[in-house]
Amino acid sequence: SNTLMVGKRGLIMGLANDKSIAWGIAKACADAGAEMAFSYMGDAFRKRVAPLAEQLGVDTLIDCDVGDPASIDAAFAEIEAKWGKLDFLVHAIGFSDKTELRGRYVDTSRENFAMTMDISVYSFTAVAQRAEKLMTDGGSMLTLTYYGAEQVMPHYNVMGVAKAALEASVKYLAEDLGKDGIRVNAISAGPIKTLAASGIGDFRYILKWNELNSPLRRNVTIDDVGKSALYLLSDLGSGVTGENLHVDAGYHVVGMKAVDAPDI
Ligand code: NAD
Repeated sequence: SNTLMVGKRGLIMGLANDKSIAWGIAKACADAGAEMAFSYMGDAFRKRVAPLAEQLGVDTLIDCDVGDPASIDAAFAEIEAKWGKLDFLVHAIGFSDKTELRGRYVDTSRENFAMTMDISVYSFTAVAQRAEKLMTDGGSMLTLTYYGAEQVMPHYNVMGVAKAALEASVKYLAEDLGKDGIRVNAISAGPIKTLAASGIGDFRYILKWNELNSPLRRNVTIDDVGKSALYLLSDLGSGVTGENLHVDAGYHVVGMKAVDAPDI
């Protein structure tokens, strides 16, 4: 353990279960002495999230649907009443209709396009608006993205388009909020078997492909993501904003893996 986050208070959004990337980040922050509140979506998840909160000594659990502005307002009102301020925010939320996370991007419906952009992109801006007001001593905001924003990945489809917009919004938010000492960054995580990922077609094959072709020849874990998140959320990342940090075992730098080429 370390003291990187002692005295810092943060809201972690997007915890579903102990496979969630948000859980890897929460564990790393707790290990560094942070005080946290968790938000989750819907009653069904409360029974999964409550024991996790207890494990880290977190006593504030907030039901928040980022598709509903009143629900976001209520969540931040609860944070304001509890602490009066906020030092860090983690947004580990994304959603799309899983019937469109397979097959062709070109077949994306208008309804699912709009919903995916609302929940997976706009929600980060919506929570940044509320968090800004509470980050009176500066702060650090972090969201999660994926390489499918930069290059075409099988089945990622509308989610890739949404992540591209999310990555652009990180840069615009970094510029707007930088004057107040608030940093805004993203982590582009390699594939990890979570609830959200299970909606993506052929996900097991994508995991295997990443394992075989990434420079580290393995997949990343939620603890790998947690440690890098700690860097961006703590003072170690004090000079870093608008960044997209790839925590993907290096997969994004590979054009073609070295092979024993046949004589041709
Ligand atoms: P997860 O299923 O554990 O987390 C996704 C979370 O989004 C859940 O907690 C879910 O409740 C929440 N959510 C969905 N709709 C919501 C709404 N309307 N309001 C509030 N919360 C809502 O899966 P995860 O993989 O940990 O996903 C976290 C983030 O990481 C997502 O943005 C995802 O796109 C991103 N990511 C995941 C991977 C991966 O391979 N798992 C890779 C790169 C990026």
